[in-house]
Amino acid sequence: MDNLKYEPKNVWKESDESAKNEIMDFSEDYKKFLAAGVTERLCTQEAVKLAEKAGYRPLSEKKSLRAGDLVYEVNRGKSILLAKIGKRPMTEGITIVSAHIDSPRLDLKPVPVTHDGGIAYFKTHYYGGIKKYQWTALPLGMSGVVMTKNGPVNIFIDGEDFCLTISDLLPHLAASQMTKPTKDAIEGENLSVIIGTIPSDEKEETVKDEILKLLNKLYGINEADFISAELEVFPAVKPRDVGFDRSLLGSYGQDDRVCAYTALKAILDSDGVDRTAVCMLADKEEVGSMGNTGMQSRFFENTVADILSMSEGDYSDIKLRKCLSNSLCLSADVCAAFDPLYASVYEKQNSPKLNGGLAFMKYVGARGKSGSSDASAEFIYKIRTILDDAEICWQIGEMGKVDEGGGGTVAQFIANLNVEVIDCGVPLLSMHSPFEIAAKADIYATYKGYKLFFEKI
Ligand code: MN
Ligand code: MN
Repeated sequence: MDNLKYEPKNVWKESDESAKNEIMDFSEDYKKFLAAGVTERLCTQEAVKLAEKAGYRPLSEKKSLRAGDLVYEVNRGKSILLAKIGKRPMTEGITIVSAHIDSPRLDLKPVPVTHDGGIAYFKTHYYGGIKKYQWTALPLGMSGVVMTKNGPVNIFIDGEDFCLTISDLLPHLAASQMTKPTKDAIEGENLSVIIGTIPSDEKEETVKDEILKLLNKLYGINEADFISAELEVFPAVKPRDVGFDRSLLGSYGQDDRVCAYTALKAILDSDGVDRTAVCMLADKEEVGSMGNTGMQSRFFENTVADILSMSEGDYSDIKLRKCLSNSLCLSADVCAAFDPLYASVYEKQNSPKLNGGLAFMKYVGARGKSGSSDASAEFIYKIRTILDDAEICWQIGEMGKVDEGGGGTVAQFIANLNVEVIDCGVPLLSMHSPFEIAAKADIYATYKGYKLFFEKI
């Protein structure tokens, strides 16, 4: 009797020399994508660039669609849907790989500029689940758009030429800070970013006046313009190889741009799709997928409806419902890799491991699977069969021990449309930190898995 036991695989053990080289090569362009797409707006721009290069055109340029057509639609500059039109009627269902391109960060407050003790600051309000102490004493960059009477002003500070930063207390004076629980050691209101210190005279408040003058000179903006701005502060930590064997890749923003990139590459490289293939890169996942650019928005449904009516020649709501009900989706998001240094919060047998390949999560949620979309046995069977046939390494797990915590993804919102959905993606160490770690072997396996899903389901 063969395969009596389930043995999770290790990608490296399953790979020959040429496969090993492919794994290493794949991450080189991914590092460039990470460095350029450091916010959801920049990530959308990068996705458009790659899509255009591969022959994709804006949906608005088309009147009708047929098999083989390549289209994309951007939503408010912050999310994007790409589609490769398949041979089968869309009412028979489409394939969707959906990732998110927002990451935890610090957003500037509407009235951000302040000063104290001769230092000028931007006040911030953090976005998503961060450990606040990880954001001090670190080089920071900033990017976003400021709407002014002269039009939009795009600001991008990569943190290389100069950077911004948040100060932390020296250990010598931190006796009381060090006794606090880590969640209280740095207060949210103290995540103020240092932006300058040169005054115009002996009065310390002039440091703010000087910074406003400088910002006006550099960008043509004034203090009121920050009210109509979206500016995001991120760790200025360049993507880089980790380890003597270079098997790992460390960077800010891999949750979830590692799945966004692999999903994007998968649709661009997919060949001969039968069902219409859709890659959805959404915003606002880190704050519950809310708002018109999040996965709870009607953007996804509206765009699928548009594509349906253009490819079928006519449209009815029942056709759209039928299309969605017959559709299959990989909710492409990162998961927590087993971390031996913190083994006590994981259940080892049911935790994804680095180098174990594309990681499936049957469910996420917390406290008795609450808030989770639980993938069906039938769908998982279908997926694991095609992956095994194609010899792509995969693994399955859940997030930590029962009752230890939990998480959410976009899966539940897509499942609500009556689509068959399962979460799967790349396991990370140090998730939501300024330097998240992924294994190159898992990144490549994930890309291959998503591509196969588009081609074979
Ligand atoms: Mn995520
Ligand atoms: Mn996240």
